[in-house]
Amino acid sequence: MTDRRNIAFVLPIYNEEGNIPLLYERLTQVAERAAERYVVEFIFIDDGSRDRSLELLRALRERDERVSVYSLARNRGHQIAVTAGIDVADADAVIVMDSDLQDPPEVALDLIAAWEQGADVAYAKRRTRDDGFLKRLTAGGYYWTLSKLARIDIPRDTGDFRLMDRRVVEELRRYPERNRFIRGMVAEIGFRQEAVLFDRDARHAGTTGYPLGKMLKLAADGILGFSSFPLRLISALGLTLAVGAGVWTLYLAISRIVAPENQVEGWTFLAAGMFLLGGIQLLMLGVLGQYIGRIYEEVQHRPLYAFAVRETGPHDPA
Ligand code: UDP
Ligand code: MG
Repeated sequence: MTDRRNIAFVLPIYNEEGNIPLLYERLTQVAERAAERYVVEFIFIDDGSRDRSLELLRALRERDERVSVYSLARNRGHQIAVTAGIDVADADAVIVMDSDLQDPPEVALDLIAAWEQGADVAYAKRRTRDDGFLKRLTAGGYYWTLSKLARIDIPRDTGDFRLMDRRVVEELRRYPERNRFIRGMVAEIGFRQEAVLFDRDARHAGTTGYPLGKMLKLAADGILGFSSFPLRLISALGLTLAVGAGVWTLYLAISRIVAPENQVEGWTFLAAGMFLLGGIQLLMLGVLGQYIGRIYEEVQHRPLYAFAVRETGPHDPA
């Protein structure tokens, strides 16, 4: 019928009722501009929203067959919602973007252009971002640390807003891990990856679905998933302390022989040292615990998500 290639947008939705109408409008404008060469579809993954998001999405689907609506049986988090969308997408290229209009839909056209030029992954890199000072500072610090620690190059100032060619998507589907850091996984896959610069907007409506807890979890997934440096760090710290303690013991032994008369000295030091050592040991155990917890979750091998709603494909002739 047509030799146009397919592009699927994957759009995770968590309480985005205030953004869906404008998002859809801007997406359809983008689709119109790409329509000559591509068949575009929109895959919305409702991640257990508590507002009217799902209702709005279903209404969109009522009037537009390009819209597919999936709904997870409960809130699983952004990375899992995106994973679900990538799993169900059957297209030559998949574009993942946030649904709060922080990622301007129009940039997708630039991503498509990069893909046409031969990129297998075109990731949108923030030239500027319209976030608060604290967010910019912590994000900057985090990505700097990650780039130092990770055993692969994970592009900085880059979220999950990106286009991926089908062959990258197929590789991505082979990553079974539960604690997902998609931007890292894509970087690890390889192929030809290119940056497309863009200016990130502020969230259009609603509030962030990434409060501090979720943010820390994602940050930990990035570092622990792509680096064993924390483990090496605690070994190094342990070794340093052990050697230091050895030298200190030697000194104590010698001083006992040389000057046996003053021996109660240093009690404060002992007390402080005990708490310090205890603290460091607990910290180290915590790092071990992080890895062990993750190993446990991986070996449980549970499914990542369950769909409660799955409305896709052409409308039923009824
Ligand atoms: N999101 C999601 N599940 C969640 C939290 C967020 O699917 O548990 C979606 C959200 O609807 C948005 C994207 O993930 O499309 C990014 O989330 P958000 O804008 O809240 O994060 P921020 O930009 O504040 O880091
Ligand atoms: Mg956002």
